[in-house]
Amino acid sequence: MTEADPSLPDDREAVREALVSWYEDDHRSFPWRETDDAYEILVSEVMSQQTQLGRVVAAWEAFLDRWPTPAALADADRADVVGFWTDHSLGYNNRAKYLHEAARQVVDEYDGAFPETPDELQTLQGVGPYTANAVASFAFNDGDAVVDTNVKRVLYRAFDVPDDDAAFETAASDLMPDGESRVWNNAIMELGGVACEKTPSCDAAGCPWREWCHAYETGDFTAPDVPTQPSFEGSRRQMRGRVVSVLKEYDELPLSKLGPRVRVDYAPDGQYGEEWLSGLLADLEDDGLVAVDEPVDGSGATVARLRR
Ligand code: SF4
Repeated sequence: MTEADPSLPDDREAVREALVSWYEDDHRSFPWRETDDAYEILVSEVMSQQTQLGRVVAAWEAFLDRWPTPAALADADRADVVGFWTDHSLGYNNRAKYLHEAARQVVDEYDGAFPETPDELQTLQGVGPYTANAVASFAFNDGDAVVDTNVKRVLYRAFDVPDDDAAFETAASDLMPDGESRVWNNAIMELGGVACEKTPSCDAAGCPWREWCHAYETGDFTAPDVPTQPSFEGSRRQMRGRVVSVLKEYDELPLSKLGPRVRVDYAPDGQYGEEWLSGLLADLEDDGLVAVDEPVDGSGATVARLRR
C-alpha cells in the first residue's frame, strides 16, 4: 500500500465512506452477491466473463440447482456440463470444461474444501489472476483491489490516474480499505457499471464521488476505453441540460438554491459560483429557454424559471 499516491485526494476516508454507503444504500441485487460460497461465486464469475449479468442470473440458478456443490459437479458427465453451457448461450464451451475440471481438482486435490488464497485458486483449471482475486475477495474477503476496465475508467476520470497499468494497480489498492475487499470491489465495480459507464450518468445515478471527481469538474469524460468525449457530455452543454432539468422539477428557484442542484461543488463565490451560473442562465435566456427575474428594488433574490 502506498499512502503517497499523488493522484488520490487527501481525505481518502471520506472518499471510501462515500462510495461504500452509496453502494450499501441501493445496489443492483445479484444472487451471487448474497453468498460467500466460493464455488457459487466461481460459477458466477466464469459465467459472467462473456454474458451480460442480467442473463447470467437464470443460468447460475439453474446450474446450482443441478450441481449444487463441487462434488456434484465433479461427478457429472462432461457432456452434460457442456450441453448446459450451450443451452444457456454462455459462450465458449471451454469454460464449461474448465469449470468441470476445477471442481474435480477441488475434490481430488483439496479434499472438497475450496482453496482460499489467490495463488492457490489459480492452480484451478481456467482460473486466471482476475478470477482468482474475485473469488478470494467475494468468498473470503481476502483479495486485492480488482482492476478491470470499469475500475480503470472510474479511476482515470475521478482521480486523473494516468493510463498505465501499474498506476491503476497502485491507486486501486491504495484506495481499498484494508480487509474490506468484498464490499469495496463490489462497490467500485458497481460504480463503473451503473454511474461511470462509457457515457456517465453522474447526477442521475447520484455518483458519490462528484465532489472529488476530476472529470466532473472539467467536463472531460474521456477515458482509456472512451477515447472521444461521449456525445451528450461536454461541460457547458451538460450543465445547461442540468439547469433545465432542475427547473422542470421546481418551476422556479433562486440562484442560491439552483446552484447546488446543478453542481454539488457550487459555492457562491467560487469558480463554480454565482457568476458562472449567471453566465449559463444568460445563454439559456438568449436561447429562449429560461427567464431570469432580477429583484425589482435591489432587494430579494434573483430567480430563474423555465420559459413555458
Ligand atoms: S462524477 Fe461522473 S465521471 Fe466522476 S466518477 Fe462519478 S460517474 Fe464517473
